[in-house]
Order: sequence, then C-alpha cells, then structure tokens
Amino acid sequence: MTTRTTRAVCLVRRPARDPVPEDFAIEERPLPALGAGQLLVRNVYLSVDPSLRGRLQQARMHYTHNLVPGEPLDGRALGEVVASRTPGIEPGRFVRHQLGWREHAVVEARHVSIVDPVLAPLPTWLGLLGSTGFTAYVGLLRAGELRPGDTVFVSAAAGAVGSAAGQFARLLGAKRVVGSAGSERKRRVLTEEFRYDGALDYRAERVRDGLARLAPHGIDLYFDNVGGEHLVAALHALRPGGRVALCGAMSRDGETHDLRHLMQAVLKRITLRGFIVRDHEDLRPEFERCVAGWLASGELVARETVVEGLDNAVGAWLSMLRGGNIGKMLVQVGEA
Ligand code: NAP
Repeated sequence: MTTRTTRAVCLVRRPARDPVPEDFAIEERPLPALGAGQLLVRNVYLSVDPSLRGRLQQARMHYTHNLVPGEPLDGRALGEVVASRTPGIEPGRFVRHQLGWREHAVVEARHVSIVDPVLAPLPTWLGLLGSTGFTAYVGLLRAGELRPGDTVFVSAAAGAVGSAAGQFARLLGAKRVVGSAGSERKRRVLTEEFRYDGALDYRAERVRDGLARLAPHGIDLYFDNVGGEHLVAALHALRPGGRVALCGAMSRDGETHDLRHLMQAVLKRITLRGFIVRDHEDLRPEFERCVAGWLASGELVARETVVEGLDNAVGAWLSMLRGGNIGKMLVQVGEA
C-alpha cells in the first residue's frame, strides 16, 4: 500500500443558519494501515446530500450521528478497491460505502456493497439504484401506501429523490403524477424528460394555485421533500383518506406555517407518515429487481448533475441546496 494520506473535506466550524464555503476546508489526513477485513478504496463519485445540513448542527439527528468540527465529513460514495485484506473482494471491484468527502478511504468490508458496473453505469448506483432511488421507492410504497389509480404530487420533483419518485409512481400504477420545482427550465424538464403529467414552478405561482390547476379533483398522495408552503397546499388539495409521505424539508420554512392546517388531516382522515429509508432494508432486493428492470427496458430516465473535483465538492453541495441540480448531484473525484 503506497497511499498513506488522503485529501478530505473537513468541518472547520458549525455553520450558522446558511452554510458558507468558509465553514469547510480541504486537508491532508493520514490513512490508517490496512487491517484484516478492510479495503483501501479510491473514491470515484461522492454523493451530494441535503441531510448533511442537519448533521453539521448540534441538534440531535436521531437516525444518524452529527459531524464534529475539526473532523472530515462523511457520506455516501462509490469507488474502486485498490488494496484488499478481505478474501473475496479483489482490487478492481467497485464498492459503495459511507466514507465520502475524501479521495481515498480505508473501509470495513462488512459495511460496503459491491456494485456491478456492467449492470448499470457507476453514477446510477448512487442515483436511481442507490439510496436516492430507494428513498423514493420506500416513500411511495411504505410511507405513502401508493395505490393504482392515485393522483400523486411530488415536490422538489426535478431533484434526485423527486425525479425518481415521480417516475416510479407512474410505473407503479399512479393515474396522474404532478410535480413542483423552482424554475421554468425545471418545470419543462419535469414533463418533457421525467414524464410528469403536469408541473408547476413554485417561484412563479403559489403552490396552492398550481395544484388547483394541475389536479382540480384533488390529490391522493403527496410525496413531501420540501415542507412549509408545499405541505400546507397539499393538505388542502388532498382528498379524504389521502396520504402524505414525509421525506424531507428542503424549504425549512416549516416554522412560518402554523399547525392549524393539520385540522385538514382530521377532517379528511389524512395519514401523514415520516420515514427514514434505512429502516426499510427488507425492501431493497425487490427495489433493485424492479428498478434494474425498468432501466433495462428504457422506461426510466437516469439523470445526474456531475461536478468535477474534490475542490468543488463544497460548492456543489451549496449549489444543490439552492436548486443548482437536476437529478442526482454527484462529485467526481477520480477516473471511472
Ligand atoms: P435534491 O432534491 O436533488 O436537491 C434538493 C432540491 O431542493 C434542490 O434541487 C431544490 O430544487 C430544492 N429546494 C431547495 N430549496 C427549496 C425551497 N425553499 N423550496 C422548495 N424546494 C427547494 O435532493 P435529494 O437528495 O433528492 O433530497 C430530497 C429530499 O429527500 C430532501 O428533503 C432530503 O432530506 C430527503 N431525503 C430523505 C431521506 C429519508 O430517509 N427520509 C433520504 C434521502 C433524502 P428546486 O430548484 O426545485 O427548488
């Protein structure tokens, strides 16, 4: 093993409400000696995820650990095994693991999953076939209890989870799928590329007005990536017995909307269910079979926004928070 250090993005300080580049720094960090059952991985793609924002704060995240100032960030990544002390996993294999935000990592083999670059391109293994797609699948089927014939509304619909959720909903039998996104360009991408039946630009019209136009008879299922105004509008648009899959809260404007709108859930017997994807691993084999089949038959569009280089990783993440991505945002830090 010749690689003894790696460049890594480290947390300098906990950000204020809006993170800035100065909260992070790239540092050279030592790599531990490769132990039994471990792999040295050369990272190729890093996953850019909104969940990092919460993990930078002090407030307990409940489903995962918070990051510590002075330490490297972590997160999902995909790379090539370049040295192995694990029988059965030879150099040259591609693996997904959790030590992203750096160029090389020493990982425990029992915590990686091996991916097949012949079955799908590497970026897809972090996108539609990765946790991103799995979040959409779990959210629709487990939290949202999707039913054939449903009218489904997805927010952040041109993003990674959203573009998967919209496409999966259609393939799983929804009658009508509508989405919202934050620009006219994305609004067009929703219908022209991701095959949504209708789309609204929440910066150009009120979500409530858009929903009245796109789903005049109401919606059955709301896949909520955003919270705030979107959730309030959806509560009013939901039909009796409707369901909300609470996936995330990109808008962070939840505090400006009071809970009296929840009375809609009482009046219309609406179910709101939060979920964390990692609690549903039992569904993963079915998910992978299903999505691999859709990809093979050309029924799914896999789209990524790829930024080059570890030096641009923080910029990519900050850009994603502001809507600078279509589909899955990735950072490429090595040759595929
Ligand atoms: P993403 O949707 O690819 O990127 C985030 C998107 O949020 C941006 O592209 C932007 O799109 C949108 N956005 C930013 N500010 C907004 C605002 N004020 N109002 C409305 N939209 C806004 O990210 P992702 O990785 O797919 O994650 C989507 C959601 O899934 C997040 O809430 C994330 O936390 C959640 N998630 C949950 C789980 C789980 O287990 N529950 C797992 C993974 C992800 P626009 O240009 O359209 O504004």
